[in-house]
Amino acid sequence: MLLATPLRFARGMLPANWHQLSSFFSRSTTNTAWRGGIKLVGHKQLSNQVPIRTLPLAGQVVAVPLQHGRSLAEPCVHIGQQVLKGEVIGRGGAAIVWAHASTSGTVVAIDTCHPADGEQPLPAVHIAADGQERWAPPCFPPHPLTVPALAEFALRMGLVGLGGAGFPTGIKLAGTAHPLDMLLINGAECEPFLTCDDRLMRERAADIVAAAAQLAKVYDITQVRIGIEPNKPQAMTALQQATVNADRRIEVRALPLRYPAGGQPLLVKSLTGRTLAPGRLPAEVGVLVLNVATVYALGRALLHGEPLVSRIVTLSGAVTSPGNIEAPIGLPISTLLAAAQPHGTGDIQVGGPMMGRVLANSAAVVSKTTSGLLARSESLFPPRAATRPCIRCNRCVDVCPMALRPLQLLSACEQENHALLQQEKLTACIECGACSQVCPSSLPLRDSFRHAKRTIWLGIRT
Ligand code: SF4
Ligand code: SF4
Repeated sequence: MLLATPLRFARGMLPANWHQLSSFFSRSTTNTAWRGGIKLVGHKQLSNQVPIRTLPLAGQVVAVPLQHGRSLAEPCVHIGQQVLKGEVIGRGGAAIVWAHASTSGTVVAIDTCHPADGEQPLPAVHIAADGQERWAPPCFPPHPLTVPALAEFALRMGLVGLGGAGFPTGIKLAGTAHPLDMLLINGAECEPFLTCDDRLMRERAADIVAAAAQLAKVYDITQVRIGIEPNKPQAMTALQQATVNADRRIEVRALPLRYPAGGQPLLVKSLTGRTLAPGRLPAEVGVLVLNVATVYALGRALLHGEPLVSRIVTLSGAVTSPGNIEAPIGLPISTLLAAAQPHGTGDIQVGGPMMGRVLANSAAVVSKTTSGLLARSESLFPPRAATRPCIRCNRCVDVCPMALRPLQLLSACEQENHALLQQEKLTACIECGACSQVCPSSLPLRDSFRHAKRTIWLGIRT
């Protein structure tokens, strides 16, 4: 048996065909740096019209996760202890992401929590907020700041990638033996509905640019490029204005207005023309790639001594009060939903409709990778049509930005044929879901590829 467990298609994981106005770009009609992709209806205006806001925390209990991927911090507080916002509550050795109190208050439990976008409960420290938001003293990096010192500092300040899977930023920053000549900042927010990065760039552009300049200085990088889609003109203008007085050359460049423009290989291609081969790290083509919210968080740590204790979460979809909220890590999702006032069908989407998932646990909390909560409704998220046999229309091939053949990949998944999966380059799939979105037969293409990748990966590890 080549795969560890039989493949099963997880129905309903991807709300494909959630908007019938989606269209696809033919491989033969695009003239940008990469081919394929799809044009999606953005629904951005639902939530990007008002500034980022905060919520009162008095009376709330936050549950701060101690684990990020395989990094598990040891709790270093006890029940009944008073903690300040930003105080270390979990620590560890090399490659461990430290955890910090996301508000001031009293530790009431050391137990578990359910991250909104996670599958498993994680160890967590529960803190009853006192509502005073009293900060711990700032913690600054050493001087002079070297790359290894920066990487260790990022781990100690709790930094993980805020744009995707939450990979520890310190490990990414530790870099490789490859010399870097460019810092790329991913300001793409190509998932419909999500506007947390848009509002961040509009409102905190100066902080982002200052952080980028600081990073470039540490790495002795001379070129910094911020990629952003042209459907965010205010964010683009704010960043351009902020770069005027920067002590490094920082360019703001437009990305193609196509999903998934923010996919790492596509971003690298769009901003540099360099090709990132499947399985290769950006450093191997001389670039460091960071999400814009991660750069902002790094700046708060480097320049203000603040660990990562909050993130911006978009509230959108069928809600009465949409917008973006700066939420402390560990805040109950129910608190955000009470602020948003959903009036949809009841299901809540965590993250965007293309890459996110349906909220599985009503007691879940905000994690460092919770980008948005979308209240689903029949009109905004039409039900997925029943699966039918493939009609060999080739649309999935036309839209695949990685030049894969999704139909052949699906066949290999169904056969559990490891050799064929390798031949069809399963590992190059970035799980964007563009193929599933355009498939007229509603075949669960992306979900099958995602499941196959996890299954093979687990099989290799065990
Ligand atoms: S899998 Fe779907 S999109 Fe691809 S060829 Fe078959 S019917 Fe067309
Ligand atoms: S999910 Fe994978 S196969 Fe499908 S379009 Fe995206 S990269 Fe291509």
